[in-house]
Amino acid sequence: MYSLDDTITAVSTPIGEGGIGIVKMSGPEVLPILQRVFVPSEGESREPGPWQPTSHRLHHGHIIDPDSQEVVDEVLASYMKAPHTYTRQDVVEINCHGGIVPLRRVLELTLRQGARLASPGEMTLRAFILGRLDLAQAEAVLDVVRAKTEAGLRVAVEQLGGRLSKEIREVRAGLVDVLAYLEATIDFTEDEIPERDITAPLQEARRRIEELLSSANQGMIYRQGIRAAIVGRPNVGKSSLLNSLLRTSRAIVTPVPGTTRDTLEETINLQGIPLTLVDTAGIAESEDLVERLGIERSRQALSRADLALMLVDASEPLQEADRQIAELIGNKPTILVINKIDLPAVAVVDDLLSTVKRVRVSALTQEELKGLEEAIVEAVFSGQVMASDVPLVNNPRHKEALQGALEHVRAAEEANQRKMPADFIAIDLTAAVNVLGEITGETATEDLLEIIFSEFCVGK
Ligand code: GDP
Repeated sequence: MYSLDDTITAVSTPIGEGGIGIVKMSGPEVLPILQRVFVPSEGESREPGPWQPTSHRLHHGHIIDPDSQEVVDEVLASYMKAPHTYTRQDVVEINCHGGIVPLRRVLELTLRQGARLASPGEMTLRAFILGRLDLAQAEAVLDVVRAKTEAGLRVAVEQLGGRLSKEIREVRAGLVDVLAYLEATIDFTEDEIPERDITAPLQEARRRIEELLSSANQGMIYRQGIRAAIVGRPNVGKSSLLNSLLRTSRAIVTPVPGTTRDTLEETINLQGIPLTLVDTAGIAESEDLVERLGIERSRQALSRADLALMLVDASEPLQEADRQIAELIGNKPTILVINKIDLPAVAVVDDLLSTVKRVRVSALTQEELKGLEEAIVEAVFSGQVMASDVPLVNNPRHKEALQGALEHVRAAEEANQRKMPADFIAIDLTAAVNVLGEITGETATEDLLEIIFSEFCVGK
């Protein structure tokens, strides 16, 4: 299904105006195509016959339309001879001036010379098929590109470097070894095969899978972030709190705030966690009483949130609307934020959401905001083993596969304890080996590959 014998081309940099823009090609024809469209400047080696670039070097020159001899752009071009390239094929990169027109012209020229437009992720797919990256590493490429915080980037870079893959491969090899032994005992008689106790290797595989899973949620949070809804009746200080958190956090992750009909969203970097704050205040004021009390909007914001920040006003007695909103929260992880502590305290909040963590702040003076940030981090990671090291798993697909493998290994352990026949245990071990192979790609189906690579951008 995947062809590797044609030459693919794509613009690898974002579309728009920039300092440079890169047209990248991969495949057997990249050198002849480059030779036809690129004229090196004086001083470059001029052997007789077609110009021969030095591999892995930048060459200065011009892109010329071979049909009209028109100069299209002044560029730096590099030819990278296989196998030490991104795709393991011959690769050419042409660094053009980063405008839409020169890039499109150069791309068109490469197409006219016989290259085909690459589909999304096709360069990385080739790298995967040709064995430069395994599937988990290929997925990490995307995570590196999309990392929202430094912590997220660290996890992705570790995965790209192959630490997860190595761990998975070792666990898998251990299981394959047990499987080979079991299959031998099925095929041969007892005196031909020395008896082995498989309890320890199964236990070891389970321990390592459990360890990987223990930090998976943390890794996924770094990769995907979490959503916190700021809820409360009007005027308790929701917008003020959102603004204060934006000001004190180190960076806003997305430059443009998201708005839906009823909410305002901003993603900030809170100690490495991409935290999307959803504020329900101030938008679409309504005549409807329920709406005016903010109840309907709170309900909507809560429905998509992982965490609730329930605000109350410390300077006023609690109102019926406060209680109604608290009821909406149900058992979602929640922090009760008692705001306006710079004013004389009036509210008695003891029985409101009595089981949840409470933090007293002033959104106005920014007093105790650090305490709120700590409480959020704690709530996000609560009940989880905080990985002292960088978590290795950050991807729901990998987590699901590991959970599947864990179940099969446990079933195999149990069957072994109950002295079930070898072929019985082998069924579960085969399943565990296969599902682990989906992570690194050994047993991935074409459908799965298609889903994964279609998420990439063209040119990656
Ligand atoms: P929202 O309707 O819940 O978004 O509330 P706002 O953020 O618009 O705040 C309502 C009013 O309370 C504004 O006048 C704010 O300046 C004021 N306010 C918000 N937080 C504080 C605070 O911590 N202390 C004091 N004194 N006033 C606050």
